Amino acid sequence: MNLADLVRYWGKNRPEQQAIVFGDTSQTWAEVDAITDSLARGLAARGVRKGDRVGVMMLNRPELAHIILATLKLGAISVPLNFRLIGKELAPMLADSAPRVVVVENELASLLEVAAAQTEFEIFAIGGSDHRAYETLIDPGEAPDVHVEASDPAFICYTSGTTGVQKGALITHRSALAPGIAQVLNFGISGRDRVMCSAPLVYTGSVLSIFAQLVVLPGATMVLLREFDPAIALDTFEREQITATTTVPVIWERMTQLPDFGRRKLAAFTFAGTGGAPISLDLLDFYNSRGVPMVQCYGLTEASGMASTLVYGDARTRPGFAGLALAGTQLRIGDIDGGFAGPNEVGEILVRGEHVMREYWNKPEATADAFVDGWLRTGDLGLQDEGGFLKVVDRRKDLLISGGLNVYPAEIENALHGIDGLVDLAVIGVKDDRWGEVPMVVFHSQRPAEEIVGDITAVSAASLAKFKRPVHAVALDEPLPRTFSGKLAKASLRERFQVPPADAIPVP
Ligand code: ATP
Repeated sequence: MNLADLVRYWGKNRPEQQAIVFGDTSQTWAEVDAITDSLARGLAARGVRKGDRVGVMMLNRPELAHIILATLKLGAISVPLNFRLIGKELAPMLADSAPRVVVVENELASLLEVAAAQTEFEIFAIGGSDHRAYETLIDPGEAPDVHVEASDPAFICYTSGTTGVQKGALITHRSALAPGIAQVLNFGISGRDRVMCSAPLVYTGSVLSIFAQLVVLPGATMVLLREFDPAIALDTFEREQITATTTVPVIWERMTQLPDFGRRKLAAFTFAGTGGAPISLDLLDFYNSRGVPMVQCYGLTEASGMASTLVYGDARTRPGFAGLALAGTQLRIGDIDGGFAGPNEVGEILVRGEHVMREYWNKPEATADAFVDGWLRTGDLGLQDEGGFLKVVDRRKDLLISGGLNVYPAEIENALHGIDGLVDLAVIGVKDDRWGEVPMVVFHSQRPAEEIVGDITAVSAASLAKFKRPVHAVALDEPLPRTFSGKLAKASLRERFQVPPADAIPVP
């Protein structure tokens, strides 16, 4: 099975069913099959062959989905490019993936200038005259007959960059689909589902976890939003009777802040996924009380976005856990000696299964480092309880060592999370003469900083061992920096605060 043949399959078996809904427009599966055939012909005419790369950089719009599928019909590799990056950051990705063609929205084309000076590729743009028009790629007729195997590469997904250098995970058709098969089996996702996608389809969480796995695999309907806006997303839930979606916790949280949330008539969800970062039990309870039992997902780009899921019932009895391995996935915890850790012992989370990337594109050394005896090293620290349930403790890179003891910032953040008026917080390690490193809280609040620090002191004393208690606190006037996918950008905070700044407030 591969994504290209699935498009043909649904085009024939569900010709009349909506495949993509975008604003007031929609296309059926037959239309998507036809347009992606036409585009595949146009790309082939520009020299795109099996194994070649085709870059794509747009905000959400149907053409983005079309270009991805047309690329896959040629057996070529789709390279989704993130428009939130600046030209200097995009250039190494384009030099690395060396696409033959890049399709962009005209307003974003200037981001490619630095890359275009270094790497040769042809640019096609939607809605503008600076480059060859996207429309010239449309050549009505059947796509060239290219044999695509499940083991052929489908995507190069660049990791989102919370930890530095961007590496391209090479994802095959089989890997891209594997978590979707597990979701179909576990949650009964089907062609009847109406799936909302609010984050740009150029992110792994959207292109793999939503588009490939929840839409193309089961032949469902994707309701695509141009950009994320909590009010529009909530309207869409109701108007389009959305039954499946997945997104990061911060997005779910923003929707709860809308005043009329409680009056909305939402459809029963087949799958309401949250992942990419930990989520609080309060938020899970809130959604459940409104008829949306959420499924927590743990995954990473290198594992096609998904490795484990935790249903709401289990989240209540195992708060803070991230669930059981997907069907077809194995999860283990590695210990420092290269063996496997026992139940409840913290170590590096290892995953194995068809969903795991083949390699980092062009990076044999990074690939060798990423695998141990066939297991993917996730770079996350976690544990498994006796029942095999996984808990993500923290990222290996976020761990700090204070006086020889491991301190997990995520544990401190969870403890402080509920402080009234605290909008945003992160815990990082800063240098300390006595202990080597000590935890420092960086926060943004609606209340005076001194009051918040008073609460931090009280909550820490009540719920954290002494060596885990924050020693310094820094109030920021603005919300904390986040990556484009909505996660805290800890690397940038660490870079900014290697030592406590002059205005840091001591936490007694
Ligand atoms: P980079 O790989 O460049 O650091 P990134 O880690 O944000 O960027 P992604 O592949 O988008 O790249 O994110 C995967 C990471 O997100 C996981 O390795 C893990 O640290 C975190 N994560 C995902 N799901 C969860 C979850 N349910 N709970 C806690 N952390 C999670």
